[in-house]
Amino acid sequence: MVIETRSPEETRSFARKLGEKAVPGTIYTLDGDLGTGKTVFAKGLAEGLGVTEPVSSPTFTIVQEYLSGRIPFYHFDVYRIEEPEEMEEVGYDDYFYGGGVCLIEWADMVRDIIPKGAIHVTIEKDPDKGFDYRRITIEDTGN
Ligand code: ADP
Ligand code: MG
Repeated sequence: MVIETRSPEETRSFARKLGEKAVPGTIYTLDGDLGTGKTVFAKGLAEGLGVTEPVSSPTFTIVQEYLSGRIPFYHFDVYRIEEPEEMEEVGYDDYFYGGGVCLIEWADMVRDIIPKGAIHVTIEKDPDKGFDYRRITIEDTGN
C-alpha cells in the first residue's frame, strides 16, 4: 500500500490510525532518510496506542519503552548500531516477542533479525512534488 501525505500532521494522523488498530506482537520497521518523518510517524503511532508520555527519538539508547498506552510500545532507533551483537545485548527478542508493539527506526541496519510478518514502512521524499510531500509505502509481510 502506498499513501501520499503533504504535511507532518497528515503523516502523524495516518500513523495514529495504524496505532489504533495495532495488535500485540506487531512489529513495524521504519526506514527513510534523515528528515523524512520517521519520528513524526513514531509519534502518531504512539498516539494511536494511547501513549501519553512525549515520544522522541531514542537517540542515546537503542530502545525506549512507553507503557502508558493500551499496549506497551517499544521504540527502537538502531542508527548507531555497528554489529548485530549490540541488539543481543539490548535483549531485543524480549521486545520483539513480548506482546507489545515494536517500531524499529533504521531497521535496514539490522534486517537479519527482523521477524517474518513485520510490517515494513518506508518514507520517501520527492523533490518534484514539493517540500512537504512524502510517499509512505507499507508492506505487510504477513504470517
Ligand atoms: P526523521 O525522524 O526521519 O529524521 P523527523 O520526523 O524528525 O525525521 O522530521 C521530519 C521533518 O519533516 C519535520 O520537520 C516535519 O515537520 C517535516 N515534514 C514536512 N512534511 C512532512 C510530511 N508530509 N510528513 C512528515 N514530516 C514532514
Ligand atoms: Mg528520527
